[in-house]
Amino acid sequence: MRTRVAGVTVLALIGWLAGMAGLAAQNAPRDVALVILNGIVVTMDGGRRVLDRGAVAVDGTDIVGVDTDEAITRQFRGRETIDAGGQIVMPGLVNTHTHAPMVLFRGLADDLALMEWLNSYIFPAEAAMVSPQFVRAGTRLAALEMLESGTTTFADMYYFEEAIAEETRSAGLRAVLGQTVIQFPVADAKTPADGLARAEAFIKGFKGDPLITPAVAPHAMYTLDGPTLRAARELSKRYNVPTLIHLAETRDELQVAQERLRPSPVAYLDSLDFLGPGVLAAHGVWVSDADIAILKARGVGVSHNPESNMKLASGTAPLPAYLRAGVAVGLGTDGAASNNDLDMFEAMRMASLLHKLQNTDPRAVSARTALEMATMGGARAMGLDKAIGSLEVGKRADVILVDVSGARQTPMYDPVSHLVYVAHGDDVRTTIVNGRVLMRDRKVLSLNAPAILAEARQWAAKVRQAVKK
Ligand SMILES: [Zn+2]
Repeated sequence: MRTRVAGVTVLALIGWLAGMAGLAAQNAPRDVALVILNGIVVTMDGGRRVLDRGAVAVDGTDIVGVDTDEAITRQFRGRETIDAGGQIVMPGLVNTHTHAPMVLFRGLADDLALMEWLNSYIFPAEAAMVSPQFVRAGTRLAALEMLESGTTTFADMYYFEEAIAEETRSAGLRAVLGQTVIQFPVADAKTPADGLARAEAFIKGFKGDPLITPAVAPHAMYTLDGPTLRAARELSKRYNVPTLIHLAETRDELQVAQERLRPSPVAYLDSLDFLGPGVLAAHGVWVSDADIAILKARGVGVSHNPESNMKLASGTAPLPAYLRAGVAVGLGTDGAASNNDLDMFEAMRMASLLHKLQNTDPRAVSARTALEMATMGGARAMGLDKAIGSLEVGKRADVILVDVSGARQTPMYDPVSHLVYVAHGDDVRTTIVNGRVLMRDRKVLSLNAPAILAEARQWAAKVRQAVKK
């Protein structure tokens, strides 16, 4: 009897010791690749949490912890740590519409309406200049500008998209890249059929890439006939990849739709069975309430480009109506030739200010709404919201650190207000995509910045010559 009691006691003691050892193992911080400490963390998660003294843990490509500094320090030990003191830690910005290589046309022709700008300058310059070498140099420059200003994901529509994809991948950025299909002969395709064949080869080459989502980019309804629009959409459906298109950018496009016996570009595309999930439509300026209802019903994402629309005087997209209808809306810069930069902080600020003025209502687009569009909204519009757009455990580690310690940012009552109304792209100190640090404390690690700038200046001399002729 006594022995038995003793036996039980010994067993209990062994069990207790084993339990303590297990607890100690559980309490030991987990080794991870990177811990970002001591920042103001703007998560953009479901509860829109902002942690005044927060931290983010990253391992491999993913976010593994988002919490207070103390909680993260207790749970994780980073092989690398970044002190985010005086900085906001937030999800990387999502640019839902651009033409990356057009940075090489930055400032080439300003103060013109879209059709004159396109027909007299951009299309001729592109006809003379666009080659794989040109788009590579342009993409490197655009990637440098984007990662320096906190854009971690972008949607692109251009030519030789496979060259753009390779440069984007080596810069380390994430992107949805659309191979252009257009009715007239262009640098990489003599016919729309060539363009479609190129798009198909491009999809096959990049489908499944961790950073690049290949897509088909029929340019616009006014530059394509019905059969080609249908064929482009069918191609993206066949491969389950996104479709990128310019939609209802200027008033002229309404007329083209009416010539095709439909009341609007949206109604025309809908009559072709073109609209559906996976379509990302840029601009959407000239739309009626009925058009917005169609876009919502079909699950189309919309890219709002306030600066391009203002600069080309294309019109004001009815952004509050889109948001009220529950359409997934992201922000875009458009190509640098009509902006003239790729700074998403400006896009946020302009979106907010433009619609306050247009609606004579300072509440029309709040700072929160603008920030939402530049992060989660853009991710949703691009169909990437499960992977990016917020700082949440299990999502990819696309994270930026924004300095808020200088004179321009002092004092700070509300970090979200500062991100929209005060911050510039240049305030971004550190950019991380898919867990890889691309820029640390303003030092770009994935690209050779001086070589890229020198090369871009050389291309500009050739562009100047080409436009003179
Ligand atoms: Zn565009």
